Amino acid sequence: MSRRANQCPLCKKAQSADFKPFCSQGCKDRDLLKWLDEGYRLAGPAADYQDSIDRDERD
Ligand SMILES: [Zn+2]
Repeated sequence: MSRRANQCPLCKKAQSADFKPFCSQGCKDRDLLKWLDEGYRLAGPAADYQDSIDRDERD
């Protein structure tokens, strides 16, 4: 019986039922953006996501 603790994969806090498998909207957005960034490298700013994203690209 290995029961996994439900942790947010990003910050290891407890998951929220509303944002599974993440702990919050912030982590959910962050993960999504990470995928988008890696997969498509979107150029435009996404609505209200910037709040939790630190952009340190200097290209
Ligand atoms: Zn989290």
